[in-house]
Amino acid sequence: MAVIIDGKAVSAKIREEIKAESAAFEKETGIKPGLAVIIVGDDPASQIYVRNKGKACEEVGFYSEIHRLSADTTKEQLLELVHSLNSNDKIHGILVQSPLPKHLDEALIVNNIDYNKDVDAFHPVNVGKIMIGDYNFLPCTPAGVMELLKAYDIDVCGKEVAVVGRSNIVGKPQAMLMLHSNATVTVCHSKTKNLADVLRRADVVVMAIGKAKFLKADMIKDSAVVIDVGMNRDENGKLCGDVDFEECEKKASYITPVPGGVGPMTITMLMKNTLSSAKLKVSKL
Ligand code: NAP
Repeated sequence: MAVIIDGKAVSAKIREEIKAESAAFEKETGIKPGLAVIIVGDDPASQIYVRNKGKACEEVGFYSEIHRLSADTTKEQLLELVHSLNSNDKIHGILVQSPLPKHLDEALIVNNIDYNKDVDAFHPVNVGKIMIGDYNFLPCTPAGVMELLKAYDIDVCGKEVAVVGRSNIVGKPQAMLMLHSNATVTVCHSKTKNLADVLRRADVVVMAIGKAKFLKADMIKDSAVVIDVGMNRDENGKLCGDVDFEECEKKASYITPVPGGVGPMTITMLMKNTLSSAKLKVSKL
């Protein structure tokens, strides 16, 4: 049976560290790290994510602002807010909650965030920095995965890692972080042929495709490390990942559950990026 990677516990420990670091930083500089979150429209899942981000800020002692805008907000209004936050000294991190209503161009909005405050690491400058391995911020979910591996002393150096999914927010940066940690990385996607053959070679499998319980035990090798980024609803409406946990748990050496695995790490990494941004600003003064 696999060791179950406890994302809640790892996340709580890192948040304690961030809280202590933030308090020490504030004492030394008089500056409280600040995060601004913008939400446009009333998507219920987004409302919950935004609320949780606000709560996390409170927990670690950050200043936070949540800007709730109506679904008919214009591009000009949103850009005006982004630009005002770019020049607001109390704010070190700006996050625009995705998805935006269809009439708003997400890429355009992200490109207008000051990349020094882009704590999601979605701005093209930060994406490029991640590519060359010279970064200030790491994209939150992939960074959370790396922290989980670290917490359980799982070293990917020289290992075969398969990342399934190639989105800009999870799969691609995840592959890059694995590469920076000296893994041999294969990136799989919907056009990959013989996916199970590729996965059975992998020492570590990271699933990020958004398909409930897709990964079965016969698709992994004995003692593989299985990381599940997916967040889906099963046939009963229950939250589940991209991994068939019950099957894979019996064969894997380590496995993340859903919920309670990668999920809690994402917001924690957002807090870490906001603190880094505040520190970076002071170091440049
Ligand atoms: P996405 O943008 O929809 O990308 C999905 C990726 O999976 C695509 O690259 C797609 O391939 C690939 N794919 C789809 N079906 C596949 C199949 N049958 N075999 C192999 N590859 C397949 O999704 P995302 O934003 O990366 O999110 C992925 C999952 O992670 C979702 O469940 C999401 O909710 C979850 N997520 C969780 C967190 C967290 O905090 N835990 C954060 C972000 C996302 P193509 O490129 O060929 O289409």
